[in-house]
Amino acid sequence: MEQKDMPDVLRRFLRYAQVHTTSANDQDAIPSTTCQFDLAMMLERELKEMGLKDVVLDEHCILVATIPSNLGPAHETPVPAICFIAHVDTSPEEPGENVQPRVFTYEGGTITFPANLGLAISPEELPALSRLAGQRLVTSDGTTLLGADDKAGVAEIMAAAAWLVQHPEFRHGTVKLVFTPDEEVGKGVDALDVEKLGVAYGYTVDGDEVGVIEAECFNAASGSITIQGYNVHPGYAYGTMVNASRVMRDLLGIFPDESAPETTRDRQGYLHVTRAVGSVNEAKIDFILRDFDQDALHAKVDAVKGGVAGVQRRWPAARIAVAFKEGYRNMKAVMDQNPKVVELAEAAMRGAGVEPIRKAIRGGTDGARLSFMGLPCPNLFAGGMNFHSKKELVPVGWMEKAVQVILNIIKIVSTNQEGRK
Ligand SMILES: [Zn+2]
Repeated sequence: MEQKDMPDVLRRFLRYAQVHTTSANDQDAIPSTTCQFDLAMMLERELKEMGLKDVVLDEHCILVATIPSNLGPAHETPVPAICFIAHVDTSPEEPGENVQPRVFTYEGGTITFPANLGLAISPEELPALSRLAGQRLVTSDGTTLLGADDKAGVAEIMAAAAWLVQHPEFRHGTVKLVFTPDEEVGKGVDALDVEKLGVAYGYTVDGDEVGVIEAECFNAASGSITIQGYNVHPGYAYGTMVNASRVMRDLLGIFPDESAPETTRDRQGYLHVTRAVGSVNEAKIDFILRDFDQDALHAKVDAVKGGVAGVQRRWPAARIAVAFKEGYRNMKAVMDQNPKVVELAEAAMRGAGVEPIRKAIRGGTDGARLSFMGLPCPNLFAGGMNFHSKKELVPVGWMEKAVQVILNIIKIVSTNQEGRK
């Protein structure tokens, strides 16, 4: 297909996907990698070329642009400013340099990759494929990830903005576009000034299949148990040695097999040992706890505390200490106070012929953190699948639907009561 015959969102996606923006773990600086600026600066230039005035890229690689309201001073009912957010980085788990996207019409069956013959996607492993025969898909050549997470979201927001600029007859309130770095390493919104952004609510466009809206995520806690034993020559240890590794073995029993990440799904929470190391003198267990329900998360904390106390009684000579840290929280608490934010996104999807699917994220999101920073922010589908993998793919039609949903949200907020907070 010729470039000029492609929908704007696809042309944009192919352009953005080819920019290397892999983020990095364990970096103090935001952004964690300077290459993320390459895409942020490309977007900055394109937004300025569209004619947007208020385009600011800061030193943390956060790009904010405003499409001002065109409702005019005569408009009686105030329309809230809203924003759409996507992240420019891609996951450090797979290579993201020299991405070669390919667009093809999917004929059904297993998808193969010419540059990586060991790689394939079958409809059994990805049931959504059964709905996609005859549609145009985008994948990488199989040697890198594609970066639909979240360059599909970036392209969709940009395409919606371009459409708005080209259609001044479409009346709308203030819309802000926000592009952030480092979502994949959990720091994306740390440097974002929510108050200065000045919007009533927003949407991250970073979800997977068409129709998905995510307004719930886990509550998170983490912790560690440290054990101090007592070491002597093993030949003369009778009655005196306290082996911290044995104590650790008993402590590992606190974490039930049936409540682990690999044995739970859907709405179940879990307890997860992330690391356990020990010698005779000392041992340490690191763990994380997750649950959609805050009370159930607290019950998990209590269960660990109780288990530690029990093991301590069994090993009075060992010194055992446990410490907990609170992590992110389920944004449902915020959404329940602002139900319109989700409802109007669902209405926007139905208006685009898409049946909304509410899903709970088994993890945390930038949107969850923003929600507790005062910006209610559910996550909308961007259309990609198989995130963080060389098998990543995105149907072109789903990206087009996401653009429509963004525009429908803007329309609903601007024209009726639904969007008012
Ligand atoms: Zn993402």
